[in-house]
Formats: sequence, structure tokens, C-alpha cells
Amino acid sequence: MHELGITENIINITVAKAGEAQASKVVKINLVVGELSGFVPDCIQFYFDTLSKDTIAQGAILHFESVPTQLRCRDCSTIFPPQDTLWTCPECKGRSIEICKGRELYIESVEVE
Ligand SMILES: [Zn+2]
Repeated sequence: MHELGITENIINITVAKAGEAQASKVVKINLVVGELSGFVPDCIQFYFDTLSKDTIAQGAILHFESVPTQLRCRDCSTIFPPQDTLWTCPECKGRSIEICKGRELYIESVEVE
């Protein structure tokens, strides 16, 4: 249930940004979600509807943009998408791999009125 905490964060940041912009209403929140983040958009939407009640963010549309996973080989710095569950560098066959994209979740932009 880690969506609850992240949804609280999303609302706090959105409310702060809307306040800075002296907005009367939040129309849309654009979110970027990594494939590997484990966050379920439907779950975030569910918490959002409940938690945003009586805030300036109430009724805002959540737009999720999915970011595909990208891996990076620590040995030769090749960046590649995962082919299967066994992560091996396609260039040098190295097994020392790190995730460079796909675990993030952040607010890309907030549209206000
Ligand atoms: Zn490599």
C-alpha cells in the first residue's frame, strides 16, 4: 500500500504549486511512472479521489505517462532495455547492471486555472 504515501506527496506538492501560482483550481496533474516502480495508477487515482477532497486539487485529472525500463552496464556503459529477467549486457555480456530508468515516480507538471 505504498501508493497512499506517494499520493499524499502528490497532493501536497500540487497544493503548494497551485498556491504559488495563485490558482483557483487544479485541472490536471501529469505524472511520470516508471515500469519498475511498482506503483499502480488505478490505486493512486483511488487514493487521490479520497485525499484530495476539499483541497484545491479536488476533481483534477491524473495523467500517467509510463517510462520504460532502461538498464546500464557498469563495465562498458551501454544503455539497453531489459530483454528478459536475466539482465546481461548485449555488448560485453557483463552481468554488472544497474537500473538507470524505470523506478521513478514524479510530477512532471501541474495544470491550473
Ligand atoms: Zn557491457
